Amino acid sequence: MTIKNIITEPDKILRKISSPVQEVGDAERKIMDDMVETMYSANGIGLAAIQIGIPKRIIVIDLKIENKKNPLFFVNPVIKNKDNLKSTYEEGCLSVPNQFAEIDRPKKCDVEYLDYNGEKKILKAEGLLATCIQHEMDHLEGILFIDYLSKLKKSMIIKKLSKSKSTRIVV
Ligand code: ZN
Repeated sequence: MTIKNIITEPDKILRKISSPVQEVGDAERKIMDDMVETMYSANGIGLAAIQIGIPKRIIVIDLKIENKKNPLFFVNPVIKNKDNLKSTYEEGCLSVPNQFAEIDRPKKCDVEYLDYNGEKKILKAEGLLATCIQHEMDHLEGILFIDYLSKLKKSMIIKKLSKSKSTRIVV
């Protein structure tokens, strides 16, 4: 397992739409292993493959309930049902470092996907897990949580992140 570099906004790669996985084989499992390792090392609770530069429809999530590791793997996830009720969480993103904002999302969703072994599964998610799945699935469409904010707030965040990336010199 290898810890990969996490791509951050405003890198255009994050705006790519990820392609479906044809078959879950060893290569895909290797990507999932690397993703989990990368997510743990960055202290995140979710990661999409595009965040390590791989435009495939793969996400990993681990809410680490009671500090126990329990990674969930989703290949080609599709949301089947969404709740009309919303829940609000203060979201952050490993690709948008140190920025947080309250985002409303459907409180419950059913997601159909292939698991680590390529088996078809359906998960009924709610609360934090539902939010996390929806956040990660947005990555597969090139969407970041800051896209839900006002234009002004979003541009302020991008400006901040762009500044922190460039090397500033004072001579
Ligand atoms: Zn994210």
